[in-house]
Amino acid sequence: CGICGSDLHLWTEGHVSDFILTKPCILGHESSATVLAVGESVQNVKPGDRVAVEPAIPCLECDICRAGRYNLCLFSNLRTRGLPPMDGCLTQYYTHPSRFCYKLANHISSEEGAMCEPLSVVIHAVRRIQLSVGHNVLVCGAGTIGLMSLLCAKAFGANKVYITDVCNSRLELAKKLGADQTYLIDSKLFNDTEMAKIIVNDMGDAPDVTLECTGVASSTCMAIYATKDGGKVGIIGLGDNTIELPMAYAAIHEIDLIGICRYKDDFQLALQLISSGKVDLKPLVSHRFPIEEAINAFKLMKSRSDGVL
Ligand SMILES: [Zn+2]
Ligand SMILES: [Zn+2]
Repeated sequence: CGICGSDLHLWTEGHVSDFILTKPCILGHESSATVLAVGESVQNVKPGDRVAVEPAIPCLECDICRAGRYNLCLFSNLRTRGLPPMDGCLTQYYTHPSRFCYKLANHISSEEGAMCEPLSVVIHAVRRIQLSVGHNVLVCGAGTIGLMSLLCAKAFGANKVYITDVCNSRLELAKKLGADQTYLIDSKLFNDTEMAKIIVNDMGDAPDVTLECTGVASSTCMAIYATKDGGKVGIIGLGDNTIELPMAYAAIHEIDLIGICRYKDDFQLALQLISSGKVDLKPLVSHRFPIEEAINAFKLMKSRSDGVL
């Protein structure tokens, strides 16, 4: 099981976006598992298989599900493992519908299987903003999702990928993973419009698409100012429910803000990219803990020490 910012919010504040804890809840939504038993009619997995687990369980019957956008199904918000009210995967045993379990090939580790969940979010974003071959890309934030965005943009054929963060060690890792340029954000030195200008100047052209992975207002403003006219900004990072954005600027420059909610039919491509080596997630595992010591993983994440992803 991987632990991310959402887990940390739930642990420390008791809520993340619309998910509010009202009773104790087992966390963990970035998970792989070994199948112990299956129901009679299950075809796609068998006992002994290792699987990546897609944690949200939609109804597959409502209008939205039938229209093919099952990630927006109301039921899936109530039935996402590790988000209240549904218990998650930081536990030894649980049951899960087989159609949301994806078999891992022998050469894919269980750790990589667990990282299919955040990678699928990024793939969903990259598909929604129609990132394609030759695009120049800006990624805001070099945490797990930002770094996966960088790797994914490259796998989708991006030309240049520039990335920002407030933390130098993350940018160092981004460089190792192939970022063409990194920017340490310091709002005391440059405001969001100035920062956008610097990035566009360095790139030689404005980014065709931007992936905003921080949820921070100033970063989202910068993303809008930096993106090419007619371009798209994928809103992956979520911070405060309400933030102030330059909407008039976005409107007259026809910059589309594209919302991203989880994933739909993206786990298959996530596994394919990992399997073929087009996306190598191994450098993103910064620490490992046995499940009994999960609490220490949360404490370490909360400490925000250098090098923790
Ligand atoms: Zn997560
Ligand atoms: Zn539904």
